[in-house]
Amino acid sequence: AAGSAHCSGSLDSGVSDGRNEAHLRVVLLGDPGVGKSSLVAIFRREQDREAAEQQLEVFDCTLMVDGKETTLLVMDTDERNMKKAIESSDSPMRLGNAYIIVYSVTDRASFESASELRIQLRRTRQAENIPIILVGNKTDLVRSREVSVEEGRACAVVFDCKFIETSAVLQHNVQELFEGMVRQIRLRREGADT
Ligand code: GDP
Ligand code: MG
Repeated sequence: AAGSAHCSGSLDSGVSDGRNEAHLRVVLLGDPGVGKSSLVAIFRREQDREAAEQQLEVFDCTLMVDGKETTLLVMDTDERNMKKAIESSDSPMRLGNAYIIVYSVTDRASFESASELRIQLRRTRQAENIPIILVGNKTDLVRSREVSVEEGRACAVVFDCKFIETSAVLQHNVQELFEGMVRQIRLRREGADT
């Protein structure tokens, strides 16, 4: 609740630009239609109208969480950029320093895909301890729910990641999701420093 942020559009992937090395690349993964772009749009809209209007797939965002600023480079994905072979260095599977894996609570197949993505990520980035948040989106669609909150939570335990349920439509828990991402990243970093 104590968070604030400023976002701006950016097509720079942040890979080679020295200025952007401090950026933490957060990649959203998940089946088509689960609400990745909607979550990103809501987050941007809450922070910066100009950035929201640009609707870029990659944008950077400075969040104030627990009294400290962190700049995230947020990258939305879709079928097009996910087609890049995992072996290629600019595959979304290789680009992220942290991941948000999204499924829809109304779509069990997307929940199963989320597990597959987690497994794929672990295989691709074996040695790295990457922060991941599993997100069950579309909680507003109460009557078409196919995946319970308990199942989501249990899956996150198995896959050793954080878990949150969101609704992009109700703008519920979206800010909390990105703040949680920042806290995860900080925890890993502090762990690595000691
Ligand atoms: P993406 O393919 O993962 O980027 O999914 P989109 O963000 O394009 O969303 C796919 C569809 O689901 C769109 O029609 C959205 O309006 C809808 N949608 C996204 N999030 C929610 C949500 O939280 N609740 C409901 N009811 N619909 C949503
Ligand atoms: Mg999309």
